Amino acid sequence: MQDLHSHSSRSDGRLSPTELVARAAEQGVDTLALTDHDTVDGIAEAAAAAYNHGIALVAGVEISVTWQRQTLHIAGLGIDPDEPTLNDGLADLQHTRKQRAATIGSKLESLGVVGAAERARELAGTGQIGRAHFARVLVEAGFCKNFQQAFKHYLKPGRNAHVPVEWAALPAAIEWIHAAGGLAVLAHPMAYGFSNNVRRRALAALAENGGDGVEVATGTTPPDSVARVASEAGEYGLYASAGSDFHSPEQSWLELGRLPTLPNNVTPIWQAPAFRSLTS
Ligand code: AMP
Ligand code: MN
Ligand code: MN
Ligand code: MN
Repeated sequence: MQDLHSHSSRSDGRLSPTELVARAAEQGVDTLALTDHDTVDGIAEAAAAAYNHGIALVAGVEISVTWQRQTLHIAGLGIDPDEPTLNDGLADLQHTRKQRAATIGSKLESLGVVGAAERARELAGTGQIGRAHFARVLVEAGFCKNFQQAFKHYLKPGRNAHVPVEWAALPAAIEWIHAAGGLAVLAHPMAYGFSNNVRRRALAALAENGGDGVEVATGTTPPDSVARVASEAGEYGLYASAGSDFHSPEQSWLELGRLPTLPNNVTPIWQAPAFRSLTS
């Protein structure tokens, strides 16, 4: 069982890399990719844990990209976490995250959320700070009844505490992933709120820039979307990936390894010649 998309506390996941890998093993996952937002900090710890549990770890990352003024997430799978080009690129994104957090903090402060930035930084610890930490702050402070509401009412584009930033360019993100020996995959293509046309343009742009794959199956992809993205993968010559995008045990509707199976008309990315996992 493969799960090629997951998060730890090195970004906005709630489990440490060790706890995440233990849970994956418990759920019967035999190949797990750790794909934290804009960081590879958790890879060494996850690899050690995977070794202990006898499962394979794919060293991954989920890179924030700005494409035609929209945010895309490009997963890098099978990367060398020490490769300098990738790490230089990620360092810029990490800087952008810090700056954005300060601005989100002041916006929330002016909306009455006292100490928002400080509390979000505390929740993020030494991991990459993101909107998810601010969502938790909003719930804690009683401004929203749950995490989803915090995005809906404060943090998503168009809302009062949304801070637009320029992430990596699409060709750059693909280059960094390739420099580090990995495969570049468009994450959760149905989760951007794109029309069919815009999603197809995104897949075309990915393919034109040398990208390798698209997530056909995620933890929340309904069957008709799996079939649709599978046929688009074929059309654009992309491998099919599968990953839950697990963040937290509290999200009871989404579990590690619990994914729709890939249809027969796609080539799974783990069959790509360049696909690499750190096998125990
Ligand atoms: P960021 O990269 O910091 O802008 O945050 C993006 C992350 O926020 C995603 O990876 C999800 O973990 C989370 N997220 C985004 N939108 C939502 C939403 N509507 N509901 C819950 N979580 C969300
Ligand atoms: Mn996330
Ligand atoms: Mn994502
Ligand atoms: Mn993700």
